[in-house]
Amino acid sequence: MTLLEGSVGVEDLVLLEPLEQESLIRNLQLRYEKKEIYTYIGSVLVSVNPYQPLPIYDLEFVTKYRDYTFYELKPHIYALASMAYQSLRDQDRDQCIVITGESGAGKTEASKLVMSYVAAVCGKGEQVNSVKEQLLQSNPVLEAFGNAKTIRNNNSSRFGKYMDIEFDFKGSPLGGVITNYLLEKSRVVKQLEGERNFHIFYQLLAGADAELLKALKLERDPGGYAYLNPDTSRVDGMDDDANFKVLQSAMTVIGFSEEEIRQVLEVAALVLKLGNVELVNEFQANGVPASGIRDGRGVQEIGVLVGLNSVELERALCSRTMETAREKVVTALNVTQAQYARDALAKNIYSRLFNWLVDRINESIKVGTGEKRKVMGVLDIYGFEILEDNSFEQFVINYCNEKLQQVFIEMTLKEEQEEYKREGIPWVKVDYFDNGTICNLIEHNRQGILAMLDEECLRPGVVSDSTFLAKLNQLFSKHTHYESRVTQNAQRQYDHSMGLSCFRICHYAGKVTYNVNSFIDKNNDLLFRDLSQAMWKARHPLLRSLFPEGDPKQASLKRPPTAGSQFKSSVTTLMKNLYSKNPNYIRCIKPNEHQQRGHFSFELVSVQARYLGLLENVRVRRAGYAYRQAYGSFLERYRLLSRSTWPRWSGGDQEGVEKVLGELSMSSEELAFGKTKIFVKSPRTLFYLEEQRRLRL
Ligand code: ADP
Ligand code: MG
Repeated sequence: MTLLEGSVGVEDLVLLEPLEQESLIRNLQLRYEKKEIYTYIGSVLVSVNPYQPLPIYDLEFVTKYRDYTFYELKPHIYALASMAYQSLRDQDRDQCIVITGESGAGKTEASKLVMSYVAAVCGKGEQVNSVKEQLLQSNPVLEAFGNAKTIRNNNSSRFGKYMDIEFDFKGSPLGGVITNYLLEKSRVVKQLEGERNFHIFYQLLAGADAELLKALKLERDPGGYAYLNPDTSRVDGMDDDANFKVLQSAMTVIGFSEEEIRQVLEVAALVLKLGNVELVNEFQANGVPASGIRDGRGVQEIGVLVGLNSVELERALCSRTMETAREKVVTALNVTQAQYARDALAKNIYSRLFNWLVDRINESIKVGTGEKRKVMGVLDIYGFEILEDNSFEQFVINYCNEKLQQVFIEMTLKEEQEEYKREGIPWVKVDYFDNGTICNLIEHNRQGILAMLDEECLRPGVVSDSTFLAKLNQLFSKHTHYESRVTQNAQRQYDHSMGLSCFRICHYAGKVTYNVNSFIDKNNDLLFRDLSQAMWKARHPLLRSLFPEGDPKQASLKRPPTAGSQFKSSVTTLMKNLYSKNPNYIRCIKPNEHQQRGHFSFELVSVQARYLGLLENVRVRRAGYAYRQAYGSFLERYRLLSRSTWPRWSGGDQEGVEKVLGELSMSSEELAFGKTKIFVKSPRTLFYLEEQRRLRL
């Protein structure tokens, strides 16, 4: 490969001289301007979103990267995919591919490129092809229900996804398992200006034929739905109608029956129609505010659509039953409460439908037990997030990223250490920032922020977001990574600029101020029992199955796990999973905020490089020796530098390398001779070698 061609920067940031944030970003920029969107940090791939189709993904490239090893060709996502797949197939090592970055950075595209590369090079035959097809077709289904247009990305995934692809001993795909994380369900009822609801709603309205629309009791115009932002129903370059056909065919390929597809669409229609149920003020005889439904037609249609008594639905929306040991008390909800209940119901139905879809896909692609298999996991998950106003969602996302960073550093160091051991080279100790204390601050079983939140949610008596905050402030007043208005920071100062309801965590990527408003609510994630019972009474088989707790016989008083503890346990499972596999990293970067080709914002990229920990990554990676290469290929490249090895050399590879380097009288500190590889400490030495080589050519 061309290591050091000045005009396109270095292909591996490990070779950067001098190494600092500024030169690192400049190097990415230089390459980006030459349409070189990929750069390595050792075996880590950095990818900058080109925002334009590049001619580098066709079959010719697949073949090229299949036939060459990692460093022989330009950096490319196929090189990483190829290395992972070969190691899985030939060395029996399970792999995981961790893709992180901000929204719009290109994670989902990257995960699809990895999948399509692997699909192109693994196995053949009818059976195998049908498995591949099912795995690939899971994407359009999950995207229809889990993606939406946001300000940052017209096709933004609003959930995190981890997918295990399973192979047999020959490396042919058998099937897979998908895990989803945290669907952004608030989007179902409300979107920011310029954003849309999930694609499925627009696809359905644009793509369903008149008969289907009528059966679903829908009107074609998206403008008629309260849950769909007005004015943003169309997205440039996105054909909702065509995508609806793609969705239907993908569902069929995966194995959904016609009846199942129909039921899924009915539930989606139900959500849209719920949004149009208008709640109005009413007063009870004693003057206490209550609520009612303005126009009964909507609820009646819903009743027909899903086989539900509309009086029952109205009652569930407008009142709440409290059960004590001895009696049942029914209280009327005022309009605000009833609207809240309606929206909570819509969000719940939709997120449960999404989980059901994932389960249903898994059922189709799952592999029978008993067979020994090899696994490649692909993780496509939101990166570190700092918004203007950071809430519970950002808190858990950033917690996940803190954990990923921990795994990353530990595994990179371990991998380095192991290579040194394999090669018989003494290990050099590396200083690095250990974020264990931050992880602990959040996840400690008894004394972590998540545990405190759960404790507050379960505590009897008056609890609120502010009692929760007070608890944190008291408990963590001395913690070096926790700050609030009433705790002192490292400089022993109070920070009065912080909002009253805020606390701050010093994450590895920077400080984030979180607002505790609705932490308790979001963590509790409770749906009034009246609503789940009403849903369970529907005759619609799918809808009913989504609310098993609505069954009065099932209605135990045991509360479901909180959102925080669910997330924590899925993060723990994920981390265990990653630790058991050989990791491959793809770091995605968004070059500008406007989804625009050819424009590289230095500032914006700097921030992302910090969140991704790129500089730390390079430092760890070249702590000992920046560069290493098998003796054979090293000799091939540099043997023209010595008269003993040029033009002919008949000795061993290592011996040849020793001859070449000996003649250049290199300092012995700079080099280490491993069992199969030569190690070079500083990039400068390598530059020197390259320079000498150029002079001789
Ligand atoms: P993320 O999942 O990180 O939010 P996406 O993968 O959805 O981002 O990418 C956003 C958009 O950027 C895509 O819809 C596509 O238009 C463009 N894009 C991303 N990666 C590439 C690529 N490798 N080549 C061309 N366009 C890309
Ligand atoms: Mg995405």
